[in-house]
Order: sequence, then C-alpha cells, then structure tokens
Amino acid sequence: MRLLLVEDDSQLGKVLVRGLAEEGHAVDHVATLAAASESVVVNSYDLVVLDLGLPDGDGASLCRQLRDGGDPVPVLMLTARDSLSDKVAGLDVGADDYLTKPFDYPELAARVRALLRRPKTVTGPILEAGDIRLDPAAHRVWRGAIMIPLTAREFSLLDYLMRRLGEVCRREDLLEHVWDAHYDGLSNVVDVHIRNLRRKLEQPGQRDPIETVRGVGYRMTMDHRAN
Ligand code: CA
Repeated sequence: MRLLLVEDDSQLGKVLVRGLAEEGHAVDHVATLAAASESVVVNSYDLVVLDLGLPDGDGASLCRQLRDGGDPVPVLMLTARDSLSDKVAGLDVGADDYLTKPFDYPELAARVRALLRRPKTVTGPILEAGDIRLDPAAHRVWRGAIMIPLTAREFSLLDYLMRRLGEVCRREDLLEHVWDAHYDGLSNVVDVHIRNLRRKLEQPGQRDPIETVRGVGYRMTMDHRAN
C-alpha cells in the first residue's frame, strides 16, 4: 500500500518509515503541512499517518482539506496532546483513528493494518481469492495448504491485487502504490515482479491467478481453482 507520513520529528519519522517499509509499504515522508497538502493533491494514498503539531500549522487542517475534497483516505492522527477535547476535535475533523505519543511501533503498525483492512471490495482480516489466502497481519500467503514465501515487494503487490479482485490494475497504479513517488528504476519492474510472483504461486494442476490485460496491466481473477 502507499502511505503518506506527515511527521516533523525526523528521528521518529525515520523509525516509522523504516518499519512501514519493512512491512512492504511504499512510504512518502514529509515534515510540513505545506508539503503534505501538495502531496495529497498530486498523489493518491491508501493511508495518511498525520502528526498534529507541525511547524507550519495544525495537522487537523490537512484532515479537513481531505474530507472537504471528498477524499475518504483513512487518516491516523499522531499527537503529543492527550486531552479528551483534542481527541474529539481530531475525530471531528474526520480522522479515523488516533494515537497519543509516545507510542510503541507495534501499536502503530497494528492500527495501520486495521485501517488498511477496512474494505473497499474485500472484507475480513484474511484476504482470499480462490485457493489463495493472504494474511496482512502475519505477512503470510498460502495457496491451498502450502505456504508461499514472498519478498516484501511481492507480498505488497499481491496484497494490492487481491484487494481489487476482478478489477484491472494498471501498471502505473501498481508502480505508484507498491513502489513510491520517486521510483525511477527499470520501467519493466512491475512485469518482472509479477513474473516472480506467478512463478511462486504456481502449483501443479492449478491455473495462473493473475491475468495479463494486454497493454494495460494485470487483474487478479476470482476463480482460478484447478480445471
Ligand atoms: Ca510534531
């Protein structure tokens, strides 16, 4: 998934970027309200982690900007303030969840997972597509009874496709959500990773679950059980 982290504490920012990247997310990190406002206009995010106390203003105004613009992206607010009125104010401007500093990274990671699980088309903590199951919390994938070891990037790619079961995912979308804003490596990187993913998911007698949509991208198909 593609995340925007708005945090002016550079130490904390680094820890969060590293942790979230290890879970396979593509993270854009900005430290000011101005940069964040611009990022959400230019890019499409799956989740925003938003510090309230920023050097050039209050993070809540970014949340308001998103909601006023009709953007339903989940927002997890971070703040050093612990008073009830601050929490209420945060939720009132449209934050989905709230975490008070200091916090332990595992708690943030769990809340991020919970917010990303909120369904668009797929519900439940375990994503399923035919005989493929993906557990976002445990970072595990099975085909039937067999556990499939994937790299963080392959995992993130499969996660994205499975959350959009049956929909065509364009190469550009995959690049944007699974890699990051500044990716400028090989242009066929998506195809290379899809090829590896297919190879790993391949089991005797079973169909390829990932359909190539020529000239556009890829689609995870609904039914790919054995013929
Ligand atoms: Ca701050």
